[in-house]
This record gives sequence, C-alpha cells and structure tokens, in this order.
Amino acid sequence: MRLAVISDIHANLAALEAVLEDIGDSVDRIWCLGDIVGYGPDPNECVERVRREDMVCVAGNHDRVCLGKADPLEFNPDARRACRWTMEQLTPENWEFLDRLPVSLVIGDFTLVHGSPREPLWEYITQPEAAQDNFGFFDSWACLVGHTHVPLAFYLPPWDMASCERRWLGGLERLELKEGRWILNPGGLGQPRDGDPSSPYFILDTEAMTLEIRRVPYPVEVTQRRMEEAGLPGNLILRLAFGW
Ligand code: ZN
Repeated sequence: MRLAVISDIHANLAALEAVLEDIGDSVDRIWCLGDIVGYGPDPNECVERVRREDMVCVAGNHDRVCLGKADPLEFNPDARRACRWTMEQLTPENWEFLDRLPVSLVIGDFTLVHGSPREPLWEYITQPEAAQDNFGFFDSWACLVGHTHVPLAFYLPPWDMASCERRWLGGLERLELKEGRWILNPGGLGQPRDGDPSSPYFILDTEAMTLEIRRVPYPVEVTQRRMEEAGLPGNLILRLAFGW
C-alpha cells in the first residue's frame, strides 16, 4: 500500500492544497497525525478538505484545545489567541468531526499518534532518549508521530535494542525501513520549524518498506495575508516565511 503521511496542517489551506496537488492520485490513502487547526487562518476549509479526502486522522493537542477539551496552560500567548479565534470560527459539523477524532490508532504495522505513544497529545519526541523510552509504549513495527514540526526518524537497530539513533531527514530523499523499529515524523505541513518554509510530508510504501521524504513550496504570502485579515498574531504570520 502507498500512503501519504502528513501532520500539523494548522489551518494553512494554501499549504494543504499544494501538498494534495503534489500527492495527486499516487497513494491509496492519506494518514494525518493531528493538529488540523490552530495557528492558521482556514480552520473550517482545512477540516472540510480532510473530511473530503477521507483521511485517516488522529487528534492533536491544538485540535483538543480549540474545542475547549484540553488545558491550554502549555501554550504561549500567541497560540492561545489563535486557539480562541479558531474556537469562534468552527462550524458545528467541523467541531463534531474534530471532537470524534481518536488520540491514537493502530493500523497494521503502524501506530499513529500526534505527540508520542506514551503521551499522545503532549509529549515532544526530539531526543533519542525520549524515543528510546517510547519504543516500550507501542507494539507495532513503527510509530508515526507529528507535533514537533520537524521531519525526523528514530531507529532502533535489531542487534541492539538499547541504542536508539536519531536521523535528521533534511536533505534526504529516501529512507529504507527494512529492519529495526522506527518512530517517524513527517514534519509540520502548515508550519514547518526546520528552517525550510516549504511543506514537508512522507510517501510511505508498506510493501517496499521505503519512505520518500518530500517538500512542497506553497504561496506563503497567501496564508500570511489571510492571517492578517483575520487579525492573528504577527509572530505567527512572520514565522511562516522562515520555516520557524
Ligand atoms: Zn502542531
């Protein structure tokens, strides 16, 4: 099966549309790792697109906070403001869709969560030590996570299950996944944070066991203009230009 794996759309319709165009009809299904809304200017349009594409989807921390169903204590003031704005925008249908999203899913060899298998909504896996601990919290061969907005892979080799390696995916086009166990993060489609403003995502081939790492430029200024019109915080608008 060929899958596209995306995460952290964050209500950025221009970025989502560019990625969907890049995917075309080359995959059987799209898996989305949460944070459909929050930060960006197009929450309803993005949720509707996710629904129309019939994506398999888990909930992210922003999705829960924007429904008032998780505590925004860990959010900075900009993120809180954007969430309050999002909460006012969501239609009842889109609200209900977000409310029904599970926090984790297991599909065949894969576990899907937003943050980590240990703490699906909130934990950031950025360090090999945290990844190592998290391999004990899922049974499938690989786990797909988002939340950090940085494309990353953590690898547990079969000959040494106590030495997790971190692999940066920037500049890489392809990764062979034939052995070991993996925690894989496609990066933040609607708000990249690795210094590259283009939108990252994965194409996963579950038969060949390969991962294609893709980046898609999108018209950042379109999203920025929409954010200005919505009165969203200036820092959130600026950061999109820098991929940070
Ligand atoms: Zn996010």
